Amino acid sequence: MGYVAEMDDALLGRLTTTYRDLHRHPELSSAEHRTAGIVAAWLGELGYEVTTGIGVTGVVGVLRHGEGPTVLLRADMDGLPVTEATGLAYASTVDGVMHACGHDVHVTCLLGAASELAADRAGWSGTLVVAFQPAEETARGAQAMVDDGLFARVPRPDVVLGQHVAPLPAGTLALRSGPAFAATDSFKITLHGAGGHGSRPEATVDPVVLAAATVLRLQTLVSREVAGGDTAVLTVGAINAGTKANIIPDRAELLLNIRSYDPTVRAHLLDAVARVVRAESDASRSPRPPEIEAIEAAPAVVNDAAGVLRTRAALEGVVGPGRLVDPGPVTGSEDVGVLAAAAGAPLVFWLLGGADPAAFRGATTVDEITRAMAAIPSNHSPSYAPVEDPTLRIGVAALTAAAREWLAAASMGGGAELP
Ligand SMILES: [Zn+2]
Ligand SMILES: [Zn+2]
Repeated sequence: MGYVAEMDDALLGRLTTTYRDLHRHPELSSAEHRTAGIVAAWLGELGYEVTTGIGVTGVVGVLRHGEGPTVLLRADMDGLPVTEATGLAYASTVDGVMHACGHDVHVTCLLGAASELAADRAGWSGTLVVAFQPAEETARGAQAMVDDGLFARVPRPDVVLGQHVAPLPAGTLALRSGPAFAATDSFKITLHGAGGHGSRPEATVDPVVLAAATVLRLQTLVSREVAGGDTAVLTVGAINAGTKANIIPDRAELLLNIRSYDPTVRAHLLDAVARVVRAESDASRSPRPPEIEAIEAAPAVVNDAAGVLRTRAALEGVVGPGRLVDPGPVTGSEDVGVLAAAAGAPLVFWLLGGADPAAFRGATTVDEITRAMAAIPSNHSPSYAPVEDPTLRIGVAALTAAAREWLAAASMGGGAELP
């Protein structure tokens, strides 16, 4: 297509080998020890100052080259508890674990960008920070790195940049200003009843009926309490109670997830869930108040408007005109915003197309493209298999170009101080 940045064959070969190796050996959240070792060795070889073990398995490389801004590039490293069904020659060799979200693509692309930017040091001035984050899938890794003193241990960035591979055609990128990925909040809710014989309900408080009423009432929150112009998703993904047809159990458990974009909508829904759960428990004569335990949370990914404007041309230069699209708000979630918020820096986070372009052949309208997207396995599917080429090349080029946009141009004679 002519726009894909040139890449040294030796580097591309090494990246492809590393990608397949990472894909074969996925590791679950906060257990990315092997991956972290590969990353640390690669960065050390390039001359980065390497810090390992930030937030358990996080690895950060720092490359200082003269005066100028500090730019942080971020990749996440964890796999998922999914049994791979892609049939790829380099499919996972780890039972029940798979790189089903493409974080192996992210690690590989960031290693590539770290290599390109180190090789081209003479062309820029500033400080480059490459952060390899654990545990994105549990929405804990970014916070774990921050809590472990990330920005006391490495320079605080002026901008946070990153990408996520998506089932868009390989050869495209997608970037959106403002809310781009949803906030996520998951809860475990325990509802209390009073157990007894199924034949004598009058002597019990039935938590099964309480749970059913609670689920239905919760499903009115988005439709009745969120304005038409705003949006949110509320899903009760699990409901567990009881053991036998003629026993009324003494408790029921719900697992619930909320996605939202606007902080006001998010706060309202979190309050409303607690209100409904308590009120339904009261209405059912529950003997004890319900327990509502937050088990997972990440804020929305909100792309900085000025930052997007500044980065857009660099990304378009990688894929060519018309190949950088606005994906609309994505209901998926990401904890990269935690890093940007902790740094007090703007965030620019884009989508990297990874799907076989053949699946989109002939699709030109938004409807046709959406239908083509729905027909191919997406992130978290056991069949999710991004194509390696040009995904890896474009992922490397996008990170490199975006970083170059934010780093200072080399000052006169800047190259002279090369080690
Ligand atoms: Zn994921
Ligand atoms: Zn992911």
